[in-house]
Amino acid sequence: MRLISTRTDGKLKPKKSELSEAILNPSAEFGGLYAPKKLPKLEYEFFQKGGYMSYAKFAIKLIKEFKFDVSKELFKTALKRYESFDDANEPVPLVKIAKNLYVNELYHGPTRAFKDMALQPFGALLAELAKERGERYLVACATSGDTGPATLETFANASNVNVVCLYPDGGTSAVQRLQMATASALNLKVIAINGNFDDAQRVLKELLASDEFKSELERNGLKLSAANSVNFGRILFQIIYHAYAYARLIHSGELSRDESFDVIVPSGNFGNALGAYYAKKMGAKIGVIKIVSNENNILTEFFTTGRYDLRGKSLIKTISPAMDILISSNVERLLFDKFGAIRTKELMDKLKSDKFYELTKAELAALNEDFEADFCTDSECKKQIAKWAKKGVLLDPHTATCLKMRDKERLSVITSTADWVKFTPSMVSAIKPDAPECAKPEEELSAMLSLGAEYKAKVPVQISKLFKQEVLHSEILDPDKVASAVLGWLK
Ligand SMILES: *Cc1c(COP(=O)(O)O)cnc(C)c1O
Repeated sequence: MRLISTRTDGKLKPKKSELSEAILNPSAEFGGLYAPKKLPKLEYEFFQKGGYMSYAKFAIKLIKEFKFDVSKELFKTALKRYESFDDANEPVPLVKIAKNLYVNELYHGPTRAFKDMALQPFGALLAELAKERGERYLVACATSGDTGPATLETFANASNVNVVCLYPDGGTSAVQRLQMATASALNLKVIAINGNFDDAQRVLKELLASDEFKSELERNGLKLSAANSVNFGRILFQIIYHAYAYARLIHSGELSRDESFDVIVPSGNFGNALGAYYAKKMGAKIGVIKIVSNENNILTEFFTTGRYDLRGKSLIKTISPAMDILISSNVERLLFDKFGAIRTKELMDKLKSDKFYELTKAELAALNEDFEADFCTDSECKKQIAKWAKKGVLLDPHTATCLKMRDKERLSVITSTADWVKFTPSMVSAIKPDAPECAKPEEELSAMLSLGAEYKAKVPVQISKLFKQEVLHSEILDPDKVASAVLGWLK
């Protein structure tokens, strides 16, 4: 199967690209993103059998249905990366925490956030595809906190890939910042941006679009790619765990043939939610996909009114920083799937020129067949964290936003996107509001260890040791200085 651009002007026949090409060179025609035109359809029996399989085996079976140009052997090698997760046999535990309520724990990888689910195999794929072509790459990524560490981790010491990672200065948690700032492999570069995540993402998009930057890279023998979820190679791996959750629910007897379940997703760039939508279209019996935001609730407005409106909005810093986003890139793939490439180009052009677009009533109704949306304030989120901690369940501030949208009558799977250890100060302030603030790194570490001991929740070594590691990247730059800094580093 080949992929096409989400945008077209309707004049020329759209160009189709193979997956390998879309991974290495993720910008599609007319400034669009690569997307599948049609998804493979899976029967109930596929999931029924899948429930007996290991995650990796299920993943291979599902990927095979796409008939991509990448070999099964290479996918198998890439999926081996899951063997470094907490439990090699069960990288994604689906844990029941109440009647009708499961948590899909996607954070058991090396950087303790769900970004590892896609970036671990993606990194192996990209490096190998580049090697097959005899090419070297600079992989750029913009991060609101979790994509950065996961991208650095997946490519650390890759012989044919360099990474540059941009994050908003002050916009991440201390652990997330340390994960990036202590990255020691020589092929990795980390830059803090004076600005917020949208600024960092804009710099990334400008670099990807800049012929001048790309020809400078060529002179250094490098091509440019991106590790953000604009890259379809990441989305592919984000379909699988939603589909596997369905298979496991059938297996455990929670769901019979005709029954469906809801998925609740804490959303930012909409990659995770898009994965759930694709899984649903492929045959996983998902009823509603519930999109949760924090106070940066542009997606709530979009899914309830049909207006995507950036006007007069600016980013609010919250305790769930990975969701502090206004420009949610993967919504474009949903528009394409529902309304086609001509309409998508029209809407995205309008967003660029007027900072807003509005769907018709019929279009909004089409989205609401699959999606509902709401948002959770920081104080509501802290109440949820405290409430579930009392029951012995520690949920990080992103995952905790999901509880607000739970319908007790419906079987629901909450998508848990991060390990709480990445956000200790917020956890403490939610669970122990009278405890002193842990502002200093050593205070954060000791609060983390004592919270872990109290709740019998293991603090992973790779997190606790960060506090003793040397900071190697401390550069803070204005957005317009990034290109020259990167080129300077490569020389
Ligand atoms: C990236 C991230 C999100 C948002 O995921 P999207 O796919 O961008 O919507 C939510 N929670 C955490 C912890 C994340 O790292």
